[in-house]
Amino acid sequence: MGEFDLIAHYFTRPVRRAALGVGDDCALLRIEPGMQLAVSSDMLVAGRHFFDDVNPVHLGHKSLAVNLSDLAASGARPLAFTLALSLPAVDEPWLKGFAQGLLALADAHDIELVGGDTTHGPLNICITAFGEVPPGKALLRSGALPGDDIWVSGTLGDARLALDAALGKIDPPLPPEVLDAARERLECPTPRVALGMALRGIASSALDLSDGLLGDLTHILEQSQVGAQIDADAALQTMAARAFAPALRLADTQWLECVLAGGDDYELAFTAPAALRVAVQDAACSASTRVTRIGSITAGHGIRVLDANGRALPRQRWDSFDHFA
Ligand code: ADP
Ligand code: MG
Repeated sequence: MGEFDLIAHYFTRPVRRAALGVGDDCALLRIEPGMQLAVSSDMLVAGRHFFDDVNPVHLGHKSLAVNLSDLAASGARPLAFTLALSLPAVDEPWLKGFAQGLLALADAHDIELVGGDTTHGPLNICITAFGEVPPGKALLRSGALPGDDIWVSGTLGDARLALDAALGKIDPPLPPEVLDAARERLECPTPRVALGMALRGIASSALDLSDGLLGDLTHILEQSQVGAQIDADAALQTMAARAFAPALRLADTQWLECVLAGGDDYELAFTAPAALRVAVQDAACSASTRVTRIGSITAGHGIRVLDANGRALPRQRWDSFDHFA
């Protein structure tokens, strides 16, 4: 199977919303008049972002999910995406699975694959996603103010737990039901698109969590020129595996590391004025997504992590992932 057969077979479907899809030099998208175009790219590299033998259905899902997560963090509605793919070989069962996971998530969000590029090389997946947002309504990293609440969606830390388990760092090994649930979070994250859109006009700042809560939150703090106080216990309670804590025998520092520094959560972290707590809960409810208040924005800079008694925890190795650190 050659390059063009591959594209035609696995990545070409009839266009629905776009004016022109796969097959020409450019795709053509329709945009509502007056809307702003939100654009985001993410690259996934084998051996760096995923294990070579990961289920291709999950990999297809995750490749698009991480991009939709960026649109969600901006409060944008996804429209379409392109796929640049570098493949070591034409492995049809792999391509079939990858396309299946990718396009199922696209269908779930009613968006389409409109183009891309396909080359021979080490396995590398780059997606660019396009969305739209009304002018002035995009959620930004700047805008957090002292006194604002800090919220997170969904669950934190379970993806990191699965990664640590895969790397043999969890002893004794996790029971299968805990491991499977954690691996699901690592391999099949849920982009919080509906929540991001529902938070327009409510959140004062937002971003998605890909590299770990504390490190990612720092981006909001720097761009908003504020500090933060995090309630470690509240953050820990979001972790799904935490419900099994007595049976798992992880050290306190391991739990904290998962929740505070674990990557791959693809949840939203956002701030909102304390006066808008009910509005935040209503937005979460309308998006069928759980949100948890885990701290507040302070004047000054830096992050203080407080234990259940309000004492500051020593900052250990909770710095998040940096590809070049
Ligand atoms: P060009 O020669 O203009 O770069 P290509 O020959 O690379 O175009 O691709 C042919 C068509 O297939 C283009 O419309 C391109 O957008 C599309 N395409 C290429 N690779 C992919 C892919 N992985 N997924 C979807 N569409 C793709
Ligand atoms: Mg090309």
